[in-house]
Amino acid sequence: MAGDSPYWNPKTETLGRERLEALQLAKLRYQCEWAVARSPWYRARFAAEGFVPSQLRSLADLRRIPMLTRDEWTASQFEHPPYGEIPVIGGDGAIRLHTTSGTTGRGPLRALDSRKDWAWIAEMWAYAIWGCGARPTDTAYIAFGYGSFIGFWGLHYAMEKVGVLNVPGGAQSTEARVLQIVDFGATVVAATPTYALRLAQEGEQLGLDLRGSPVRRLILSGEPAGSIPQTKALIEDLWGAKAFDTAGMTEIGTIMVFECSHQPGGTHIIEDHMIEEVIDPVSLQPVAYGERGERVVTSFGRGTIPLLRYRTSDLVCRVPAATCSCGRGFDLYEGGILGRVDDMKIIRGTNVYARGIEAIVREFPEVEEFQTVITREGLRDEITLRVEMRPDWRSDAWAQLSDLLHRRLALAHEGLNFRVERAGAGELPRFELKAKRTVDLRDAPIGAAT
Ligand SMILES: [Zn+2]
Repeated sequence: MAGDSPYWNPKTETLGRERLEALQLAKLRYQCEWAVARSPWYRARFAAEGFVPSQLRSLADLRRIPMLTRDEWTASQFEHPPYGEIPVIGGDGAIRLHTTSGTTGRGPLRALDSRKDWAWIAEMWAYAIWGCGARPTDTAYIAFGYGSFIGFWGLHYAMEKVGVLNVPGGAQSTEARVLQIVDFGATVVAATPTYALRLAQEGEQLGLDLRGSPVRRLILSGEPAGSIPQTKALIEDLWGAKAFDTAGMTEIGTIMVFECSHQPGGTHIIEDHMIEEVIDPVSLQPVAYGERGERVVTSFGRGTIPLLRYRTSDLVCRVPAATCSCGRGFDLYEGGILGRVDDMKIIRGTNVYARGIEAIVREFPEVEEFQTVITREGLRDEITLRVEMRPDWRSDAWAQLSDLLHRRLALAHEGLNFRVERAGAGELPRFELKAKRTVDLRDAPIGAAT
């Protein structure tokens, strides 16, 4: 228990780099020995690559361990259904099954956890909850569907572990959730960034004063937008509260990064429980501090699914711990998760990132929802920003607003000409989890629905 400390785990969160790395090396050896003894996939893979855990003499030897990709995991599930050969146990020894939210053709990952894994999953979230300033006197509302997607399940248990009064807001309408947040006097709300905005919009339509409500902190997860400054500023303004970014993944079972109460514009890596590498996704060589690359994660706490050098496809930029003044020894990802390594779109020779578009759109609080549609007309690619305005917005200002959006988008994209279209009320999709606002129709059959 952390007592009066600003840190959940004062001992490990303030370790110097040398001692932190010694701890990582000891845990890495143990996890590799565990994996090779119990996981059929790692046993075969390590043997094929000639790797044995006794080769790990320093952290630099980490690179002897073969990387694991999502495709390899999926293939193993396909060949050895339903869980594949990476887990060290089958369903008999586990207490939980979760799946990724992905709906791509590859199919979701199925992840198993033991009781001990769940204790660790909650412990990781406790670093974030405590680190952003939540305390046992708080009341937390978790605006989340509580389905097979892992989402805020770990946060739920961590709230209990920290001692926060916890309201599970599953299986309800947005309206019912906002009413409960106010009714129960929640001081902390957990949601995706997109859903935090939607809850605030719903509250305004219901005539509720969320800015004047007891809500002081929002814990965001599930989308990179929690660290886009413009999105975060809008969320903080609508709620009259501070917003804190976190990020996790089903493959780990929990979060690997969190933003501390100093709000340094990035997220600390929980380095006493993970090793995060940042590599060039093509050459697979490590990149330096301050350079963008792909996250590769090794986590130590989940026994059922040992995760060693897993390629995440997340785009990040790592900076030293001293970038934040909170005193933690954990390095940070500047700007949180920046997106996916493969989510850059090229339109007529110009690079376009979903994050860059969102940063501009969120400067306009009168925009309720938006979507980017990319099409091919003849030989020419076109990019269209579709914008849905708030219901109480004055329509006669559209020409001015669309012109301003058009100019801001062009300025940020080497003069690229975006079309800006107004969408009707309720026309664009709404999201509770993992918003997908970019629709690329260039390779879609003619007539495919947006
Ligand atoms: Zn910090």
